[in-house]
Amino acid sequence: MALKIASMKHFWTLTFLGIVIALIGYIVSSPAPRPFDPAFLRLSPLEIARLPLAVRFDQPMGGEHGALTYNAQPFRLNRHLGDDLNGIGGLNSDLGDNVYAAGFGRVVYAGTPAPSWGKMIILAHRVPDLETPEKTHVIQTVYAHLKEIGVKTDQLVQRGEKIGTVGNADGQYLAHLHFEIREGPYINPSVGYADAPLNRISPEHFLAQHRGAANDLLNRPPHLSIPSSP
Ligand SMILES: [Zn+2]
Repeated sequence: MALKIASMKHFWTLTFLGIVIALIGYIVSSPAPRPFDPAFLRLSPLEIARLPLAVRFDQPMGGEHGALTYNAQPFRLNRHLGDDLNGIGGLNSDLGDNVYAAGFGRVVYAGTPAPSWGKMIILAHRVPDLETPEKTHVIQTVYAHLKEIGVKTDQLVQRGEKIGTVGNADGQYLAHLHFEIREGPYINPSVGYADAPLNRISPEHFLAQHRGAANDLLNRPPHLSIPSSP
């Protein structure tokens, strides 16, 4: 009888110890949940691989060569991180004008991140390096202060396809398109002005480098609504 009680004690001690070890293991192996911040996402390697290859880029409004636009506040003027594109009619004459995808890409953000931004679209593109075209890197094109957003997250858009319209961020500014080009896989609406250029590059310079590329035909032209001849 005494032996039986002793082995029962042993059993319960071992069970108790097992539970304690399991609890410690659980606490150590499960990190504290971090708050999800939708404003700061990194494209995964799979998402990057799924990005369309974009070999050619054009102006996002006012025709392919931007002939009907002017740049009211170029990159880095007054700490600006993009270009402010306006219709040549000035003032609010461009309110509601079409905004086009600058290159073949995927929508990675479409929404209103902050009142000062108004509606914003971010497209991500996989772009061949100029010197070593077999290598690619992620480029983002950003379209802000929009009146309307015409695309949804994860949608593929062709270069030249309409994605939205020029706005004034709900009446805060004269209508214009705040257009940025960013490098890298971090998707973050971020800011439009800063002392340092951050991950932004000059849109004018980038478009000049990537317009009329030799391998132009690798990207399909935008969808046209012209009925095919019988
Ligand atoms: Zn701007």
